[in-house]
Amino acid sequence: MSGDSSSERVVIIGSGPAGWTAAIYAARADLEPVCLIGVPRSNPAPVLPGGQLMLTTEVENYPGFPEGISGPDMMQGFQQQAERFGTRVRGVDVTACDFSSRPFTLTTSEGDTVKADSVIIATGATANWIGLDNELRLATSGGGVSACAVCDGALPVFRDQPLAVVGGGDSAMEEASYLAKFGSKVYVIHRRDTLRASKAMQERVLSNDAIEMVWDSQVVDVIGETVIEAVELENTKTGQRSRLDVRGLFVAIGHTPATSFLEGSGVLLDDAGYVVVDGGSSRTNIDGVFAAGDVADSIYRQAITAAGMGCKAALDAERWLSEHAD
Ligand code: NAP
Repeated sequence: MSGDSSSERVVIIGSGPAGWTAAIYAARADLEPVCLIGVPRSNPAPVLPGGQLMLTTEVENYPGFPEGISGPDMMQGFQQQAERFGTRVRGVDVTACDFSSRPFTLTTSEGDTVKADSVIIATGATANWIGLDNELRLATSGGGVSACAVCDGALPVFRDQPLAVVGGGDSAMEEASYLAKFGSKVYVIHRRDTLRASKAMQERVLSNDAIEMVWDSQVVDVIGETVIEAVELENTKTGQRSRLDVRGLFVAIGHTPATSFLEGSGVLLDDAGYVVVDGGSSRTNIDGVFAAGDVADSIYRQAITAAGMGCKAALDAERWLSEHAD
């Protein structure tokens, strides 16, 4: 251990279910954790302290909430519980990490550094885009293109308008069901003829009269100057192109782990950029650095699994700190 009195014992980067659960456990173990919760931003994709659940209306599958709970309410509860036990909170991003010597050094978006004896990475994952020029332009200018129906779908501009969702996973199904409350019609554009989404989510969409599936189709252009007017589609089997008039486009094609700040830090990432952890533990390849939640989980990506991983990370960090005490 460093023995450096100015260093924090545990610094948690991220504030989703993994980060807050790690904070609750670390705080209750008297490790006086600091949680660096991130800075909100809206472009190119919405990123909020609290993570993906801040963009989720109703959480119905988290045990202990038989009637369900909204994502933001749930995250507020996580934070309050972590703060109740003494977690200190800072609204900064981490821009760089030096894990070459202990205590570790984290550089923040405010330009200062935080010294840490151990670090828990819990930064989650953010939404992907198709990558079309007009898609990103209209997404950043408020032109009716979004990666988050729950954030933007209720805006007046989308009311009683034809809308489209891209994707065939649970996120796309969730977005389509949500948008069906507002739009005059919701098209789900999927590049194949079968959905990746769970059966329950599929059924909710396929049985909704306000939602129409557009199978075997890719969006190849987004049409509109200041606001979206239509999308150009290409049939993935025939190559045939067609135009679909919509006033909103919601892209729901998966997520990318938030690990760019780890570049050059030596933390081992997999091909998709997720942090690699050792077996069922939260240990990364760097002694004293742990990871939890969606940033280290490309498979389950659920609030409950993230929270469980956060618990493991705090216990792993506590054990590691006690083994490396002076
Ligand atoms: P996902 O399961 O990875 O699905 C992404 C979808 O986008 C796939 O259908 C994929 O098509 C399509 N796609 C990917 N790249 C594309 C591109 N460039 N152009 C067009 N389509 C593209 O992602 P997700 O839906 O965000 O879900 C991620 C995880 O979160 C899953 O484990 C899911 O179960 C979970 N989740 C759960 C809930 C819930 O339970 N309430 C809600 C949301 C998400 P292909 O199918 O052809 O690959």
